[in-house]
Amino acid sequence: MLPDLHDLLESLPSHAAVLDMAGLLVASNTTCLELLREIDPDMGLGRPFGDACAKMLTQPVGFAVQEGIAAVLAGSLPRYEMDLPCGQAGSQTWRALCITPLHGPFPGALVTLADISRQKQLEEHILHDAFHDTLTGLFNRALFINRLDQSIKRLKRSPKALYAVLYLDMDRFKLVNKTFGHVTGDRLLMVIANRLQKQLRELDTLARFGGDEFAILLEDIAGLEDACSMAETVLRQLAQSFRLKKQDIFVTCSIGVVLGSAAYEHPDQVLRDADNAMYSSKEHGGDHYTVFDAGMRVLTQRRMEMELALRHAMEAGEITVHYQPIVSLTSGDVTGFEALARWQHPRQGLIAPSEFIPIAEETGLINELGALILRQSCRRLVELLRANPDFTDLTLSVNISGRQFKRPDFVDEVSTILAETGINAQLLKLELTESVLMDDADEAVRTIKRLKALGVKVVIDDFGTGYSSLSYIQRFPFDSLKVDRSFVGNMNEAEQNMEIVRAIIAMAHKLGLEVVAEGVELAEHRTALSELRCESAQGFFFSKPVPGEELDLLMRKHWKNEAQPLL
Ligand code: C2E
Ligand code: CA
Ligand code: CA
Repeated sequence: MLPDLHDLLESLPSHAAVLDMAGLLVASNTTCLELLREIDPDMGLGRPFGDACAKMLTQPVGFAVQEGIAAVLAGSLPRYEMDLPCGQAGSQTWRALCITPLHGPFPGALVTLADISRQKQLEEHILHDAFHDTLTGLFNRALFINRLDQSIKRLKRSPKALYAVLYLDMDRFKLVNKTFGHVTGDRLLMVIANRLQKQLRELDTLARFGGDEFAILLEDIAGLEDACSMAETVLRQLAQSFRLKKQDIFVTCSIGVVLGSAAYEHPDQVLRDADNAMYSSKEHGGDHYTVFDAGMRVLTQRRMEMELALRHAMEAGEITVHYQPIVSLTSGDVTGFEALARWQHPRQGLIAPSEFIPIAEETGLINELGALILRQSCRRLVELLRANPDFTDLTLSVNISGRQFKRPDFVDEVSTILAETGINAQLLKLELTESVLMDDADEAVRTIKRLKALGVKVVIDDFGTGYSSLSYIQRFPFDSLKVDRSFVGNMNEAEQNMEIVRAIIAMAHKLGLEVVAEGVELAEHRTALSELRCESAQGFFFSKPVPGEELDLLMRKHWKNEAQPLL
């Protein structure tokens, strides 16, 4: 026996009803009837279902409910499904309406109205997260790119639809995080986001790209001046201090500005140019904006070509090492060498490290390059000592770039190279510059200690050119200090430089550091440094850096001689 229609409807988990061929209600379960009566108290059997249903809507839906029902009843739609936004404004609910035709004894349609509010909420949540930054609530990169793509297309259709992109990167934000902690850093980013948002018009888009990077899309602007004036506003706004945790925090940012043009096909191209312009603001020292020009693209192009060429040079063995002797000012002996990278270019000849090291740093090639130089020079020293057993204790100083030093596996790499080449670790000195110490001092201390545990010595290079004071470097367990050649070079002409060198040497000694002076070009430099009790020196006065093949000869000529100029 067939169950009673009402019993059947009551047993369904969702609101359900049956309509006749005219769309009138012929049966309904209780929950469905109650729902319909909330909207239309007169609702009951024999009344048009579609009208009541349409009244529940808080906003229009694509295909009117009545039309949907009619189409199913007429057989022109096999089934009609629609998510209905219902309820009063403020307490929105969602119902999934489903209308299926009924044939047989009750021709008409079966209607269900399931509550899908939770599911919709979840969907909206996911959608929101997909396009928003959780920290600041701003749009994220994905949404920004979407909007930018629309702007690019709009400009192609109508040349008056000008747009511009401002790409922002906070200056030295790492320092903020380090000084005040990440929680305050995050809080500051939120406040910055808020301050930026206030400067924008309704139609502009502000997004956070992650970290301390933001981007602004300005639409329908009159020209570049509008973009520049926005950049100035942003700089001015950030220049005012932020008050957090009862402290005034100052931040600045670097901005790259790109004006949209028909030449742009894809958002990535605009962002790449904006990033380049931002980068040049950074090079300017930050707190600055730069408008992108095509010249920068040429620069990028050149950088990429250099990278390719450098990669090739490393594989082809064109990267070699020259060695500059370091001389003891007390004994006059050569006590060691500094390894200095050279690029022996087949056509351009010898290329100085100042030309290719920065590119290697930027592109990340420095990791491989640094390892190559370390390996090559350690091997050379081992050979030299093996061939000349009377040259004891010659040390090897190798320059280590910041990026290389900060790699998590740097110490392991040094340890591998020590084992591979068989060099006595006590003879190896790694030269670090202050830039390595600024970002994360605690981490730097840990790395230096791990290096020292291998037996390697650690030197602070170019001392005096950075910001750190001697008391700052006291935190780091260095073995020796190199006075930058800019002080030594004109020590005798400029009284002030002599005083600086004197002070550095005296304080270094108090900290138990040995001192090496660089850039000794004249006999007077050597004499003055000896009088200041500087331990060692290097410079053109003793010898220029020489190729590895010439080391034996240089040493034989010089070994145990009075430190005479070799050239
Ligand atoms: P640096 O570590 O300060 O190296 C000393 C530089 O001073 C060398 O320049 C050397 O040739 C030059 N020099 C030596 N004596 C004199 C002198 O009496 N007068 C003058 N005016 N200069 C002198 P170089 O070889 O051109 O290297 C420049 C910089 O490139 C180095 O400065 C170092 O920072 C970097 N560098 C060189 N090789 C490497 C390397 O293998 N790895 C890394 N990361 N950096 C390197
Ligand atoms: Ca050096
Ligand atoms: Ca130096």
